[in-house]
Amino acid sequence: MGLQEYQQGLDRSKDSLNHSAEHLNGNLKGKDILSVRQFDTTTLDCIYSWSQEMAEIAEKGYRADVLSRKILANLFYEPSTRTSSSFTAAMERLGGSVIPINEVVYSSVAKGEDLEDTVRTLEQYADVIVLRHPEMGSAKVAAEAASVPLINAGDGVGEHPTQALLDYVTVRKEQGRVDGLTVTMLGDMKNGRTVHSLARLLSSYDVKLNFVSPEILRMPAEIIDELSAKGVSQSEHEDLAEVLSETDVLYVTRVQKERFDDPAVYESVKGLYVVTPETLQAGKETLTIMHPLPRVGEIAKSVDSYTRNAAYFRQMENGLYVRMTLLAGVLGKLPT
Ligand code: ASP
Repeated sequence: MGLQEYQQGLDRSKDSLNHSAEHLNGNLKGKDILSVRQFDTTTLDCIYSWSQEMAEIAEKGYRADVLSRKILANLFYEPSTRTSSSFTAAMERLGGSVIPINEVVYSSVAKGEDLEDTVRTLEQYADVIVLRHPEMGSAKVAAEAASVPLINAGDGVGEHPTQALLDYVTVRKEQGRVDGLTVTMLGDMKNGRTVHSLARLLSSYDVKLNFVSPEILRMPAEIIDELSAKGVSQSEHEDLAEVLSETDVLYVTRVQKERFDDPAVYESVKGLYVVTPETLQAGKETLTIMHPLPRVGEIAKSVDSYTRNAAYFRQMENGLYVRMTLLAGVLGKLPT
């Protein structure tokens, strides 16, 4: 490649980044992020491009003042390691700061009062609020009360949109595309908010989705119906072996212990699926293995070094870049 061609390539990618920044600032500024349903494929493309750029920014430290003087309130009513710390890191990498509020004791949000008052308080001090809460629908209640952007970091068994966005970026980076892939989700389809969000997000693409779970942890009917209405090809199974050989991306999840009323029922299903190097023998050589983490035995540790295609730690890293993009987007500050 000649110098001129190389320069033209750089200019083109700079143009497309500027265009993506304008699109995201225009579409996300001042908005809440509550569900993946709010993202069209153009916006997803822009998030993908910017997450690559954010990786450079995080590494090299330029444009590290994009969110200077901006403050994030990180409000967590449920435990979190990755989501909470990656939002903190994302804010700080872009020059902003964080009010961390962890392990809040709550009373039911069904009546809304406490949560609503809390976010009204926090918005006096912060420009954006990230909320994790054990009740489905809580993020919407909080967002209605808040006048600053509110980002859903997991609302019970509902959605986890920022996780689905980082999952999408990971699939695209690892496989080089999304269209045409067969994605198999394994584990707790009923209570896993990450699979609810990811299945919805992928329904905007030409994918085949397989859901593998025990009978009592099947994907909720309303999600199956929603995907069918979008024409997604999907099937449900109890045995991974039925679909492993056709799978491009295996998305493993833990059984969500905290959602079970009866510990005996949890015990009866918790160890049903364990992915080991032996399991993977029946899979494609290019199979990408993902997990939102934490894992509690569903993927044997020996898989980590067994294959380069074990992508769960890269997936987690992508979370930082996606969250940098989203924070800059909702604050209308992606640089052009
Ligand atoms: N960390 C993810 C979540 O918050 C996955 C999990 O906990 O299993 O939903």
